[in-house]
Amino acid sequence: MRINCPLCGTRDRREFTYYGDAVYADRPADGAPIEAWDDYLHLRDNPAGETRDLWYHEMGCSSWIEVTRNTVTHEISATRLLTDRKAPAKKGKKT
Ligand SMILES: [Zn+2]
Repeated sequence: MRINCPLCGTRDRREFTYYGDAVYADRPADGAPIEAWDDYLHLRDNPAGETRDLWYHEMGCSSWIEVTRNTVTHEISATRLLTDRKAPAKKGKKT
């Protein structure tokens, strides 16, 4: 699998460290109910289809990247820097 880093270009996935579901970037606010923290820390969906994951470009630019991929086909449809989450994701090449 190859991942398109928005800063470095397309690289082998072995340059990256997988962190998990992109929901980790959506931390509950201070004072949020315990149920919100339980959901944030422990509960994950296991979709057959499109998902958003966090990857760290450990052997590259040290950026956190949100990767949109299909868990059935492993196709990556978009990547973006975690700091650009409010901007639309850039469409990537099929890998
Ligand atoms: Zn990079």
